[in-house]
Amino acid sequence: MVKRRTSSVPCRVYKYGALPPEPRDVVDEQMWLAHRYYNDLIEVEHARRQAFVWARDRVSAEELREVSKQIEEERKDVCNARVRDPEWGPGLRGTCGLYSGTYLLIEAQAEQARKKKGAPPRFRRWTGEGAIGIQCAKPIPVSELMDGTNRYASIDTSPRYHIRTGRPIKNGALLTCVVGPGGTKASFSMKLHRPLPEDGLVRWIKILRRRTAETSVAGVREKWEVHITVESSTFIRPERKGPVAAIDLCWSKGRVGHLLGEDGYEEPILPHTAIVKKLRYADSVRSIRDGYLNVAKEWAAINIDPRVRSWHRMHAKGLMRKIREWREEGHDVAVLEAWRHRDTHLYQIEHNVRAKAKRRLQNDYRVWARRVVDRYPVIILEDLDLSELATENSGGKWGNHQRFVYAPSRLRDALANAGAQIVKVPAAYTSALCHCCGKEVGGTYHRPRCEECDWVGDRRENAVRNILADGMEALGRAPKREEAAQRP
Ligand SMILES: [Zn+2]
Repeated sequence: MVKRRTSSVPCRVYKYGALPPEPRDVVDEQMWLAHRYYNDLIEVEHARRQAFVWARDRVSAEELREVSKQIEEERKDVCNARVRDPEWGPGLRGTCGLYSGTYLLIEAQAEQARKKKGAPPRFRRWTGEGAIGIQCAKPIPVSELMDGTNRYASIDTSPRYHIRTGRPIKNGALLTCVVGPGGTKASFSMKLHRPLPEDGLVRWIKILRRRTAETSVAGVREKWEVHITVESSTFIRPERKGPVAAIDLCWSKGRVGHLLGEDGYEEPILPHTAIVKKLRYADSVRSIRDGYLNVAKEWAAINIDPRVRSWHRMHAKGLMRKIREWREEGHDVAVLEAWRHRDTHLYQIEHNVRAKAKRRLQNDYRVWARRVVDRYPVIILEDLDLSELATENSGGKWGNHQRFVYAPSRLRDALANAGAQIVKVPAAYTSALCHCCGKEVGGTYHRPRCEECDWVGDRRENAVRNILADGMEALGRAPKREEAAQRP
């Protein structure tokens, strides 16, 4: 439930289960409109992209820059509804019928989808799931929320009773808030099992409706949730004092990181060989499955449909679906049925082995983090976008395991959970520059060599020394390196 922002005052999201709102229709309508608004925004984005592609093929580089700038501005204007864009309908915000909290929420979601690299954002299908936001133009103090003096939202904690049994509901509370235009209010019966911090400021209230596959209560296929984002200075962790260590998160030949303490202690971070062995085993099961799949495909190509041979990217699932069709058409599919049976069995083995390795890894990281943080309460890390890093060069023998074992975010989370104070330093040039003299290193990728001072060594060892030095500077425990270098 913990979520931090990058601002100075940390935020946390408090999540509560709720009953369907009272009255329902306003909330239902807002959720449907929110869904439509999202798709409207995506449609605008699609049209913009098309315009860009059209322009790209016809104009010079300079004109193109102009076009893309123009498109960017137009897009912003549509979102902000500052102009009435004749092409895309009069300002979307003005006509979407949504309350400001919700349209801000939806715009943020659309913006996130737009920024994603690769294919254009996709339209959402209406599944009955949705979210609306409650306007908090100005943050609402928790005290105001609880005593009911705020005009947008209030939580009533007076005793509530079960509708049928008449028994009091433990931690029962009633959230009443403005959900629609014209100040329409709705109430949500919820369980306030975790009290909000008294000195906090409520930045956001979100109401979510989700579909559930299982029906825990007969006939109920939806789940309502209230998410309250609270900002409070009490969430700031006390600063840890003590020895400092730097960790270079990396992925090279099974090593997931390299640790260097300020006292000179050094160790590579390696996942246990048993885990790597398990992963290799899972891989071998996978290749056996692939082999059987090819045999089955070949059989089907000869006996049923020659086109099967060209299904290069055909997953086992596709073939399984096809078997059913063929059986209905009257083909003899006994051989394929046998394959299907075996493949399901092998899949289960593979899946179990991977899951076991994952659990083991998680535990190892937890134990490791505990040990490290006991010795070094302050940890310096590079400020990396780990999700992007994990998808880099994912090929080859180790590449297959990369996303799985590497998961540097897991290592980082383990350290944070063990109570480390994490200091982030910019990631640029940490492995490109020599830690002794600050000049660019030459040599090979894994074994860099500094032409200036003749240092030769390991790439990660060089990087971790740079990270440690940057971190010590950032903490004010070491003089600036440029200054240090100037000293005689
Ligand atoms: Zn050097």
